Amino acid sequence: MVNAHADLFHLDIMDGVFVPNISYGFPVVEAIASKAEKPLDVHLMIVQPEKYIDRFAKAGASMLSFHLNATDEPEQALMRIRETGMKAGLVINPDIPVENLFPFLHLCDYVLLMSVFAGFGGQKFIEDTYGRIRTLKAEIDRLGLPVPIEVDGGVSPANAGALVEAGAEILVAGSAVFKADDPAQVIAAMKV
Ligand code: ZN
Repeated sequence: MVNAHADLFHLDIMDGVFVPNISYGFPVVEAIASKAEKPLDVHLMIVQPEKYIDRFAKAGASMLSFHLNATDEPEQALMRIRETGMKAGLVINPDIPVENLFPFLHLCDYVLLMSVFAGFGGQKFIEDTYGRIRTLKAEIDRLGLPVPIEVDGGVSPANAGALVEAGAEILVAGSAVFKADDPAQVIAAMKV
């Protein structure tokens, strides 16, 4: 995949509590970090993400995001992520209004909009996502903040162009890439 022109490796961390599935933990992240030649973008789907910030920094993450409703102290967690030198991101599922992110945008290096519900691969892209991106992008621009919008879930060459047009800057593709006969070609198709 190093030759496949992906800009980042997006790793989904699931704890079996915040989402029903369990994915993998620190040894796997460390092993990927030791081989990956691209930055690791780690997406936490775990409760109390603030407990693990330092360990993910040590494991080699460059970007660390957590769900807004997974913690009572989002400000402190965002600030701590930045203190470790990682980029700090805040995530919301499709049923949470994008306006809930507005009070925290000044503490974010990026924001992640789920375009499916976090926790399972292979779900169908939710079409409301375009409007959510536009609303969020308008507020980010109004505040004059350099905060890119990342979109995760059901992203493929079929919707990548429209997502970028709506204001997304980072696209996460799982099934579209990993289930393709030619993953590199799918990534290339999404980047034009
Ligand atoms: Zn993710």
